[in-house]
Amino acid sequence: MNNINKIGHNPCSSCGVCVISCPHKAVLLKQDENGFYRPIVNNDICTDCGICTKVCYKYLKEKNPFENAFKDKSIYAAWSKDITTVKTSSSGGVGYELTSYFYHAGYKICGVIFDAPNNICKHIIAESDENLEAIKTSKYLQSYTVEAFSQFKKGEKYLVVGTPCQIYGLRKWSKLKKLEDDFILVDFFCHGTPTHNLWKKYKEFLCEKYNLNSSFKYVNFRSNQKSTWHKNAMLISDCYEKEYYKDKAFVSDLFFQFFMSHSCLNDACYSCQLRLDNCAADIRIADFWGSKYANNENGVSLVITNTKRGELIWREIEHLLTVENCNFKDLETSQNGRFIEKNQQQRNVILKELREDKSLIQIYNQHIKNKLSVSVLLLLRKIEIKILSHINSNR
Ligand SMILES: Cc1cc2nc3c(=O)[nH]c(=O)nc-3n(C[C@H](O)[C@H](O)[C@H](O)COP(=O)(O)OP(=O)(O)OC[C@H]3O[C@@H](n4cnc5c(N)ncnc54)[C@H](O)[C@@H]3O)c2cc1C
Repeated sequence: MNNINKIGHNPCSSCGVCVISCPHKAVLLKQDENGFYRPIVNNDICTDCGICTKVCYKYLKEKNPFENAFKDKSIYAAWSKDITTVKTSSSGGVGYELTSYFYHAGYKICGVIFDAPNNICKHIIAESDENLEAIKTSKYLQSYTVEAFSQFKKGEKYLVVGTPCQIYGLRKWSKLKKLEDDFILVDFFCHGTPTHNLWKKYKEFLCEKYNLNSSFKYVNFRSNQKSTWHKNAMLISDCYEKEYYKDKAFVSDLFFQFFMSHSCLNDACYSCQLRLDNCAADIRIADFWGSKYANNENGVSLVITNTKRGELIWREIEHLLTVENCNFKDLETSQNGRFIEKNQQQRNVILKELREDKSLIQIYNQHIKNKLSVSVLLLLRKIEIKILSHINSNR
């Protein structure tokens, strides 16, 4: 067997690039019973040509754990000079400035919208300023890529924003197709993506508890308009404009409680090789969390120019932004560590219960509530150790 069913070093990341790479259209991407996109190979059509394995994250070998892709790269803090852009973006609006600038320079922009009628996140090729607005902000679910990625055509120029694994697949694919120069690739520091079954149950919960209609019209996981950057809110409105609004969503909203507890992320997210050790993008963006901008309540993006091309692109757009030079230490204090803690047993139970009849609040009360307090204790312990080692090193 020489297709993506071959066992690899890593689990499937659900990026969907194998589907577009198959010359025989033998691969489909479908959600499995646990709510993760997985490729399905039609063995009657597959010729075992192996092209899908050449673009696949599964075969990326583990790197030296002490190596770091960003150590020698240029690192910036940045936010748009246009305050409306900052307030309507996730952090500092660098994502929007990149997409908007290159859209008006003739590039096709490929980014993620929340497709409310189908209740999924998906990549689209933006065709208007309205599409660019819809692409703004992070949607904390794995996007469906296949529809948009299948539209890539030779002779066009593209800027694509995606998770590190989606961008890794596209880098490999564009190299294979000799189209690398036509693609500007942007990714972000990625916490991981949870199962779609969580989203489905969360929706049921909102409809029941807050009396929302199940037909959602608008979903914003990072609403800063009525809130502030650090107190980020979840804002959802249904087809009758009835709103659900939760301030400090990272700690108070049920979807985020599951997301932040790492209890039901995609398998590949826990040991992601693309978090700190590998990056296939020209530019990486992120929230500049941590102490450096703790008092900034509008929003600050962290930017890393990962390739020479990324640096040139950055120079083209930096006049649209307020930019401060930073260093690797700033990056380290802003971002989570290398891997995400995985409690396999608990994850299995939660994934099972998300498939079954139990309500989200029941699952939360049984498995997440107490776990969060354990995580908080562990975090406090880590902070204590850091402070103690800092004091010791200064003695
Ligand atoms: C699933 C996910 C996890 C993240 N985890 C972290 C993290 O751990 N630490 C951190 O600092 N930052 C993380 N981010 C990035 C962060 O939320 C912001 O996107 C980043 O700060 C840039 O903000 P911005 O204001 O410049 O642009 P934004 O306005 O946020 O633009 C974001 C860009 O990301 C694209 N995008 C949105 N949702 C998705 C998606 N589901 N899949 C692929 N592309 C998408 C959009 O097309 C848009 O172009 C994550 C983002 C996502 C989507």
